[in-house]
Amino acid sequence: MILFLARRILSRVNALSSIPSTVDVAADCPETAYPRDSAVLLSQQVLRTDVAGMPLEWIDYKEAVRLYHTEQVAYACGSPLYRLRGGINARSGRRTVVEVSSIIATIGHSSNPGTLRSDYVPPLNNETLFKRDAYLCMYCGIRFPSQQLSRDHVRPFCRGGQNIWTNVVTACRRCNNAKAYRTPEEARMHLLAVPFTPTYAEYIYLKGRRVLADQMQYLLAHFPRSSPLHVRIREWLN
Ligand SMILES: [Zn+2]
Repeated sequence: MILFLARRILSRVNALSSIPSTVDVAADCPETAYPRDSAVLLSQQVLRTDVAGMPLEWIDYKEAVRLYHTEQVAYACGSPLYRLRGGINARSGRRTVVEVSSIIATIGHSSNPGTLRSDYVPPLNNETLFKRDAYLCMYCGIRFPSQQLSRDHVRPFCRGGQNIWTNVVTACRRCNNAKAYRTPEEARMHLLAVPFTPTYAEYIYLKGRRVLADQMQYLLAHFPRSSPLHVRIREWLN
């Protein structure tokens, strides 16, 4: 039933491409990688989900191969990323090959803290905060590179404001300095959007490096309908 539901989600986002049932990997398979295009491709992260399709984490190709090798991959979807060749299988006499997809669902208990704990709050850091706000200053609305951005406490930290997702926004240094130790109302600065706490699926997206189109589509399908990220990502990409 769970597998059925997961496959329905996959078909909705048109991400399903193949569901390998077995992977031919020799027990002594050396980790010899043959990236199809370049070394950059090999650094592309794989999105791991639980068997129900809930996003769990980003993993590298070595971890993905380990999961295939230990038969923990229930099914794969998305686009093929790597083809890794190993040694010759003593029984079959054939060279072992593992095809790693951009999204793999794994068996076992879900380690998704967003599912296990209803009060889960992702850790806050500037990297994910700036990405949540699509690298826009939430006061002047201009997009900046992350080096020119800062974390602004809407209610100033020195005045009892907390360092939590719902009290922090991305601000350019100029706006942050202009606001100083005041609230937006006191500084007469208009806040462009209400800060929010990401869900676990949103947090996985925020942590991703070079998120592929199919991985993005997959994660978007797991965001709340009301998530501001739907609009922000669309505008950011256009
Ligand atoms: Zn600004």
